[in-house]
Amino acid sequence: MSKPIYFDNHATTPVDPRVLEAMIPYFTENFGNAASRNHAYGWVAEDAVEKGRKQIASLIGANSKEIVFTSGATESNNLAIKGVAEMYAEKGNHIITAATEHKAVLDTCKHLEKKGCRITYLPLKGDGLVDLDMLRDAITDKTILISIMYANNEIGVIQPVKEIGKIAKERGVLFHSDAVQACGKIPVNVIEDGIDLLSITGHKLYGPKGVGALYVRRKNPRVQLTAQMDGGGHERGMRSGTLNVPGIVGLGAACEIAQREMPAESARLRALRDKLRATLEANLEETYINGTMEHRLPNNLNMSFAYVEGESLLMGINDIAVSSGSACTSATLEPSYVLKALGLGDDLAHTSIRFGLGRFNTEAEVDYVAQKMIDVVNKLRELSPLWEMFKDGVDLSKVQWTAH
Ligand SMILES: *Cc1c(COP(=O)(O)O)cnc(C)c1O
Repeated sequence: MSKPIYFDNHATTPVDPRVLEAMIPYFTENFGNAASRNHAYGWVAEDAVEKGRKQIASLIGANSKEIVFTSGATESNNLAIKGVAEMYAEKGNHIITAATEHKAVLDTCKHLEKKGCRITYLPLKGDGLVDLDMLRDAITDKTILISIMYANNEIGVIQPVKEIGKIAKERGVLFHSDAVQACGKIPVNVIEDGIDLLSITGHKLYGPKGVGALYVRRKNPRVQLTAQMDGGGHERGMRSGTLNVPGIVGLGAACEIAQREMPAESARLRALRDKLRATLEANLEETYINGTMEHRLPNNLNMSFAYVEGESLLMGINDIAVSSGSACTSATLEPSYVLKALGLGDDLAHTSIRFGLGRFNTEAEVDYVAQKMIDVVNKLRELSPLWEMFKDGVDLSKVQWTAH
């Protein structure tokens, strides 16, 4: 049995072979501890870490001194939000975020709510964008942090980050952005975007899992954080723990490749994504795009297919690795909270598919996936009484269903 075609690059990406090659020596001959100051093993490791720091900083327009290494974006988000909440507790206790953030942000905020913070979860407009007027109105003299992601991991919608940065600056509030899905895919610049704290992870941009970074602004303003990990005082006291040298080398190499190849890669993926969308729309009625196409990552397509059953759809395309808007959590079939925040009904949320294209996908794969989707959706609709009623012109919203 051959493996499914991988179209789930928002969940994770394979390590680029060039990244792996750069990492290998740091598992073997260059195994030193970057904190060992007394011998060459330590110096070699430290040099590699500092190179990685520069490569990451360069991708986001930062200074390498502003990069703090972590175990990934979940930790970066925790450190940014809890670190600010604790450090600036005397200034205020109010944090603003959005309903469609990643769980690593939402659950961190929920945790802080129990500790006495007040959290505003901004609703999203139907197109997936934050309402800037609502954001302005939500700020009070107790607001210490705005945490809004750069681009969403389900619908790929890119937030108006520059405008958010401007509002934050005007009101003297810090701005954190979970930029996991944006970094390496679209230009990100912490100076131009007015970002004070930014989370990034290796495994979403063809680097290794288990390594990430938090950008922490050093001037205008100088951001301070309460450490969440006590220990040897590594990373300017913000994150103790022996550095993951091979991981950092990999994250750095991944950032350098992404920065260099971004113009060509994003154009290629955009063309493939647009072809997938056009083929599906030309051959299937009653498909719906979730989130605006205008402000979207080039590699993302999120589409709902009306009048099919979500589970049957996924089963029908089991030779394609994608994510759907219905996450099977324990006994209940909970539709995606991101799609619900956009105002989607349960039925369309359950039949949504997230196509996440990546560096190693080909046009032949796109053609296969498009045809497979068309065949499976058509087959399922042929068996669907709802589809038949829809085709007969019955207005399904007016039908009175009776339970037996
Ligand atoms: C994957 C992801 C995370 C979590 O990153 P890890 O490194 O796996 O902890 C956080 N935010 C977004 C938007 C993501 O897509």
